[in-house]
Amino acid sequence: MPSYVDPSKCDGCKGGDKTACMYICPNDLMVLNKEEMRAYNQEPDACWECYSCVKICPQGAIAVRAYADFVPMGGQVHPMRSSDSIMWTVKFRNGNIKRFKFPIRTTPEGGANAYEGAKGENLADERLFGETELPQPTALAK
Ligand code: SF4
Ligand code: SF4
Repeated sequence: MPSYVDPSKCDGCKGGDKTACMYICPNDLMVLNKEEMRAYNQEPDACWECYSCVKICPQGAIAVRAYADFVPMGGQVHPMRSSDSIMWTVKFRNGNIKRFKFPIRTTPEGGANAYEGAKGENLADERLFGETELPQPTALAK
């Protein structure tokens, strides 16, 4: 089942050229109704529930109404991001609510260093990270 935008929470990303959900959807499903300034999923059947739009929405306006085997009809799944964790709220149609919180990073925000441990590596030559020898030509290439 697809993503669903709660129109009472969506602010159309404050009128930017491209909303966050339009930017992130790999299937180009999200569109903005410019009169209402509300986004919506234009083709729910094509949504593969990747949750990208759900997680990026700054207003927390998008939820996914998931498969009945883990979220029965009427229920929904909703994430809330913080700087170091994500809280998933699962609402069941009988009113039960379950929340699961998971850490999403091991370094402070902005503190990740992609080149940590790369001391001495020559990033301009053909070696892959960690390789000490240059690749040798194969017999076929000789
Ligand atoms: S990202 Fe959220 S607030 Fe922005 S347009 Fe999409 S649903 Fe609305
Ligand atoms: S869940 Fe994924 S495929 Fe579906 S609308 Fe959102 S970003 Fe697009």
